[in-house]
Amino acid sequence: MQQSKASVTVIGLGPMGQAMAGAFLDAGHAVTVWNRTAARADELVARGAELAADAEAAVAANELVVLSLTDYDAVFAVLESVEAAVAGRVFANLSSDTPERARRAARWLAERGAAQLTGGVQVPPSGIGSPESSTFYSGPVEAFQRHRAALEVLTGADYRGDDPGLAQLYYQIQMDLFWSSMSGYLHATAVAEANGISAEQFRPYAVSTASLVPGMIEFYAPRIAAGNHAGDVDRMAMVLASIDHVRHTAEASGVDGAIPAVLAETVRRAVEAGDGASSLTSLVGRFRKA
Ligand code: NDP
Repeated sequence: MQQSKASVTVIGLGPMGQAMAGAFLDAGHAVTVWNRTAARADELVARGAELAADAEAAVAANELVVLSLTDYDAVFAVLESVEAAVAGRVFANLSSDTPERARRAARWLAERGAAQLTGGVQVPPSGIGSPESSTFYSGPVEAFQRHRAALEVLTGADYRGDDPGLAQLYYQIQMDLFWSSMSGYLHATAVAEANGISAEQFRPYAVSTASLVPGMIEFYAPRIAAGNHAGDVDRMAMVLASIDHVRHTAEASGVDGAIPAVLAETVRRAVEAGDGASSLTSLVGRFRKA
């Protein structure tokens, strides 16, 4: 173990916080940990981490404090209990929530002489400790530069700018895409299974269709950016018919049609409003107006 590396504190030992504290230990950092449920620290303590007596002692122990909590309700619950110790600390807050709540926590900390680096971690616990993984960061650039090397023990670091809400914004738009992709996959699997096609039989076809998406994003992004919603390769009226076919197939299979129904209704309103000959991409503007 190299003892010359900066010591760090990790607060919050769910699957993510445990992986993070473990990655710091593996990289030779001295690590102080604290968790509301103390037993979650047992394995890390056995590996050499120090369990602080309380959250305030954990914050007092090190300049860099990583927060890995469920959401910002949990963040505020912890911060309010350690208020006396926050001055001079840099909180790498890797808990998920909205950009606005990230800004509020950053203001709260700044008013007390501390800094927040907001982080949006883009990998599950198994990706922690790998430089190919990536985390969005935003907040004071000098705090980021000062602690970048330590943070890169966890994942690669993608600094997005000063605004403490930005890292959460980038993270949430990734999750927007992720959750709708996963719900589409799970819904299609339900329809497959309802018709005797197993998840394993569906797998190569699911992968094949999902593999089309990156090319579509590459094709459509510059057109969306240019405001070009021409219906030269896809027309909204065709899209509506197709989504209705998906919905009716699901419902005839005894599968809940709510997810395709929401999309069908959104597209139907766009068609009724005059977008029938435009590309599906004109939904971007419709979503914003809605
Ligand atoms: P969990 O919700 O499993 O655990 C987070 C920690 O928050 C636990 O240690 C829990 O303590 C603590 N906590 C919750 N509420 C409070 C509170 N009121 N006061 C004090 N502590 C509290 O989350 P994960 O470890 O899975 O994830 C952490 C963050 O990382 C989340 O924001 C998540 O969205 C994000 N993330 C998670 C990923 C994943 O795959 N797991 C991937 C990318 C991001 P206790 O043990 O006492 O319950």
